[in-house]
Amino acid sequence: MSGSVAASGLAMPAILEAAERLRGVARRTPVQTSAQLDEMTGARVFLKCENFQRTGSFKFRGGYNAMSLLSEEERRRGVITYSSGNHAQALSLAGRLLGAPVTIVMPNDADPSKMAATRAYGGTLVLYDPATEDREEIGSRLAAERGLSMIPPYNHTGVMAGQGTATVELFEEVPDLDLLLIACGGGGLISGSSVAAKALKPGCRVIGVEPAEADDATRSFRAGAIQRVHNPRTVADGVRTPALGELTFPVILKNVDDMATVSEAGIVRAMHFLWERMKLVVEPTGAVPLAALMEERVNARGLRIGLVLCGGNVDFQRAAGLFREFGLAD
Ligand SMILES: *Cc1c(COP(=O)(O)O)cnc(C)c1O
Repeated sequence: MSGSVAASGLAMPAILEAAERLRGVARRTPVQTSAQLDEMTGARVFLKCENFQRTGSFKFRGGYNAMSLLSEEERRRGVITYSSGNHAQALSLAGRLLGAPVTIVMPNDADPSKMAATRAYGGTLVLYDPATEDREEIGSRLAAERGLSMIPPYNHTGVMAGQGTATVELFEEVPDLDLLLIACGGGGLISGSSVAAKALKPGCRVIGVEPAEADDATRSFRAGAIQRVHNPRTVADGVRTPALGELTFPVILKNVDDMATVSEAGIVRAMHFLWERMKLVVEPTGAVPLAALMEERVNARGLRIGLVLCGGNVDFQRAAGLFREFGLAD
């Protein structure tokens, strides 16, 4: 098994090294359970609360690990990425901790609170017009002009290895999981998580979950070739990525057992359950794996199931608006 995993571009030693680098830097997030949730699903469910991670999502793990792999000289010159979401904040904080200036290419219509949060962590924004300009093109041009190192949000082995460390911690606390459910956008989180799970318990199944509105990863998994989705209209903004990465896709094909999709209403209902019943503030994407259980998109009965609650960055107004829109609040 370890040979085939190594051949796919990401192996367990890289994840364990990432875990070592992150020790005392990333938060060791709690694992929560709920008797009500167990009863509802007929399973034992263990929630790894990355909504409590530094900067509010697991992205800090991958961003910090990737930046640690740069030379001192590269860090001094600086790092660049494109992201309007959690990766921007994560990388900005990692840069502050590791002494690297961070430039973020962000659309000029990005959420102002996300711009402010990124600036507060020390990131410098370069805004562009998403209607006429391409973020990857701007990113590569600035990287070349200014000698900056590009750390993309998922298609990078250092990022993928860092994201796997949450699963390492989950297995340290709950070694005998039968199933792991992971939200899938560009596939960085599920790459690292699936390699870690298969190394620690080969019999543990790993299922990726994404909104039916953005089902490119499911289609790619079935077709055996990367499929794309254009501007998906899902509430789960953390997984609105257009396609899996060239580095994440082969790891997913090799280590992930299946993919499942969930409805928009299911995502908001799962989010509402986590807020109201478990007092866990998650963003819509953070509720995607639980939606797969609540909508019975996977066989859960009798199993011990791990879920990564991947992020908590949503402002109260947006959450309240979603609960109202889907009939869960007045
Ligand atoms: C980035 C992100 C994801 C998706 O991660 P990928 O590595 O792109 O698959 C899921 N949830 C949250 C909260 C995120 O920030």
